[in-house]
Amino acid sequence: MKKLIPYARQTVDEQDIEAVIKVLRSDWLTTGPTVDVFEEAVATFVEARYAVAVSSGTAALHAAMYAIEISQGDEVIVPPMTFAATANAVVFQGGVPVFADVTSDTLLIDPEKVREKISPRTKAIVAVDYAGQPCDYAVLRKIADENGIVLVADACHALGAKYKDCRAGSLADLSVFSFHPVKHITTGEGGMVTTDNNRYAKRMRRFRNHCIDTDHRQRAEKGGWFYQMVDLGYNYRISDIQCALGISQLKKLPEWIKRRRKIAEHYTDAFSSCRAVEPLAVLPDRFHAYHLYVIRVKSEKEQITRDELFTALRSGGVGANVHYIPVHLHPFYRETFKTAEGLCPVSEAAYRQIISLPIYSGLNDADVDIVIHELLCATDKA
Ligand SMILES: *Cc1c(COP(=O)(O)O)cnc(C)c1O
Repeated sequence: MKKLIPYARQTVDEQDIEAVIKVLRSDWLTTGPTVDVFEEAVATFVEARYAVAVSSGTAALHAAMYAIEISQGDEVIVPPMTFAATANAVVFQGGVPVFADVTSDTLLIDPEKVREKISPRTKAIVAVDYAGQPCDYAVLRKIADENGIVLVADACHALGAKYKDCRAGSLADLSVFSFHPVKHITTGEGGMVTTDNNRYAKRMRRFRNHCIDTDHRQRAEKGGWFYQMVDLGYNYRISDIQCALGISQLKKLPEWIKRRRKIAEHYTDAFSSCRAVEPLAVLPDRFHAYHLYVIRVKSEKEQITRDELFTALRSGGVGANVHYIPVHLHPFYRETFKTAEGLCPVSEAAYRQIISLPIYSGLNDADVDIVIHELLCATDKA
C-alpha cells in the first residue's frame, strides 16, 4: 500500500505541546482560567462580544439550539449539504429540521429556498458555510428579520473566512465552530459558540455545565458548597488542557489560512484546462477559508465518473473524500421525518459529482503536485 495523503490533518508543533504541559502542571485541568483565555482569544479574533467554549462542534450546535429555546415541534431550516450534526442538534431539542436546498454553483443554502420553507412554526435558520465560504448573510439577515426568526451560522468550516470584510463568527446571531483535528485549528475535540447576545451566552454557559447555576471555580472562590440545577443541561465542558492547545493553535491560524488559500489557488490553476472537473464557485464578496477544496466531476459522455475518479485517486495515494451525503437521505431522517429522494434535487445531484481533495496547513508542495498529477492522469485516460 502506498502512503495515503489524507484530505485533512492537524498541525501540532513543540510550542503547542509545551502549552499543554504547562496546564498539566497547574491547579486547573477543567473549568479553569485557560478556558476563559481561549474564549476571549476566539471572541477577539472573530470580532464577537462573547464566546462560549464546549466539548465539540456538535455540543456547540446543541447549546445554540438551547440558547434560542428550540423545543418540541419548532421548525429550523437547515441545508442538506452538511455534516449530520447540523440537523441532529435541532432534533436533540425536539425540533424539526426542515431542509432547504443549496445553490448549485457554491453548494451554500439558497435564500430563495429558505423563503419557501418558512412556516408559522419556523424559529430559526442554520446556515452552513460549506467548505469555508460564508453564505449570503445580508439576504439571510433580511429574511430572518422579516419573519422574526433567529439566524445561526454553522461556521465549522469557516474559521478565518469573511463576508464583505466581516469575519465568520460575527455574521449571525450565533455562530458555531469545531476544533476537531480536521478543522482549521484543533483542541483534539472541542467547539465554540460566538454571539453578541449576553442572554444567549449566559444560557450556554449554564447549559454546558448541567444547567447548574454556578461552576466549580465560582464555588471554590466563594468557599461555599450550595448550588442549584435550574434546567436540564449536559456535561459539555471543555478542559483547560484542550484550551491551552487551542490558544497556541489560534496564533498560527492567519498563516495557516494563507497556506490553505495558496494550495487552493494551485489546484484551481492546475485544473483550469481539465474539461472533466471544475472547482466550486467562489463569490467576489467572500474570503474563502478553505476547510475543504471541492471539485465537481462533470460526468459528461465519454468522461470519467465521480466514483471512477475517486477510485483512481485513492489507488494513486490521494485520500480523496466526499462531503457530504445529503443529510435528508440518511436512514434516520428517512424513517423519523419521512424525507426522501427528490426533496432537495440540487444537493442530490451535486452529491453524485463532488470530491474533496487534500487540503491542510501542513500539506507540502510535493504532495500538492502528486494530487494534481494523479487527478490529471486519471481524467486524461478517460
Ligand atoms: C465538524 C462539523 C461539525 C461537528 O463538529 P464536531 O466537533 O465534530 O462535533 C458540525 N457541522 C459541520 C459543518 C462540521 O464540519
